[in-house]
Amino acid sequence: MPEIAFRMTKRNHNAFVHLLGALESQGFDLGELFITKDFTKILNAKPKVVLYSFFTEEIWGSLSEEIRLLKEAGSILIAGGYHAIAMPRHTLNKLGFDIAVIGEGEEVLFQLLNALKRTGYKITKDLLNITGLAFYLNGEFVFTGFAKVEDFWRFPPYPESVRLISPIEISRGCPFRCYYCQTPYIKGFRMRHRPIDQIVKYSRRMKDMRYITPNAFAYGSPGAILKLRKLEALLKALQPLRKEGRRLFYGTFPSEVRPEFVLPETLELLIDYADNRRLAIGAQSGDNGMLKAMHRLHRVEHVQRAVEYMLEYGFEPVVDFIVGLPNENRESQRRSIELMKWIMSKGGKVRAHYFMPLPGTPWSKCKPSPLSPEMRKFLGRMAAKGKIEGSWGKQAELSRKLQRLLDEFYEESMSYHGTIGSVC
Ligand code: SF4
Repeated sequence: MPEIAFRMTKRNHNAFVHLLGALESQGFDLGELFITKDFTKILNAKPKVVLYSFFTEEIWGSLSEEIRLLKEAGSILIAGGYHAIAMPRHTLNKLGFDIAVIGEGEEVLFQLLNALKRTGYKITKDLLNITGLAFYLNGEFVFTGFAKVEDFWRFPPYPESVRLISPIEISRGCPFRCYYCQTPYIKGFRMRHRPIDQIVKYSRRMKDMRYITPNAFAYGSPGAILKLRKLEALLKALQPLRKEGRRLFYGTFPSEVRPEFVLPETLELLIDYADNRRLAIGAQSGDNGMLKAMHRLHRVEHVQRAVEYMLEYGFEPVVDFIVGLPNENRESQRRSIELMKWIMSKGGKVRAHYFMPLPGTPWSKCKPSPLSPEMRKFLGRMAAKGKIEGSWGKQAELSRKLQRLLDEFYEESMSYHGTIGSVC
């Protein structure tokens, strides 16, 4: 039976598929791994090492019970993903993991698994030579540095020997640095891109071609500007695959686009080259003061312009909002309501999310603002009519849990660009 198990879940599937591609391309034999979404099978297999990857929002689920059972069975537990990166001490001390992977995982995981195999699955000083780890050695907390993979496209998105696929990560990093978002602080401020020929090669395996990127229209650019020719080159290169019967979804689930990138030129590309007629953008607030406070670096007018262009070109706008933002007052909430109403009156869809203070972000110590009676009534009424999507109610509960967690266990997060200060 394999000695190393990957605890796949619905939420870590895409990340693990990409990591398996990276491991295999560096020479790791995936036949040595037990990869499954079935926890009981992992427990029964008694592996020496089990790998997890999860978000902070997941730590209140079945995770603690799984860790308890695996620890009883004597497995070494490795955690990767956003929670482990942002809160390594909590991951080790409170959740009970043995090793936290800090940063981009492609290289560090390969080195870590090889080192553990070499040392008979023990935590030894050999691990000190691997950048991107946090663990305890002789009772001392050790952090070996943040693992960065600048040219992430050196690694294929999928493995060859295991039949697993996911939407392909085509771009990584984001220059906008919104204060509530983990992406730029963990993946870096400069956007990097997988080359077109590689995207085409691996897109062949998908029936519906979908992509992971912080801003689909920024393909080919350092992130903050539009490189229309590069974007067109990518979409054009995917056309032979469309002709073979695959559908191309671009700028919609699981990715989205920034509002100021929604222009006649970008929409015309989608009309010519893509199959989706729905586009997701983040508005986040209808108040320019709030947009400035959260470092969105666009204005309400950009959202309105994007919605109008989308409608003009026959796209259904799907617009995300965050309610209960830190320091949001009744007036700013009223402005968000007005913008939501305007979008819906034009035929667009609104998705409402409640503010969640995520570790590893400048707003991790910020408290959500209470929803005004007007906002509560509005969201309730619109949800009942099926006009607003989103689970802000559940998220409000989760937000309270996150606040308690961060009040109790706050730690200065490591990031791609050094430690992250709080701006609250
Ligand atoms: S919310 Fe989007 S634009 Fe803002 S930092 Fe995150 S990925 Fe970038």
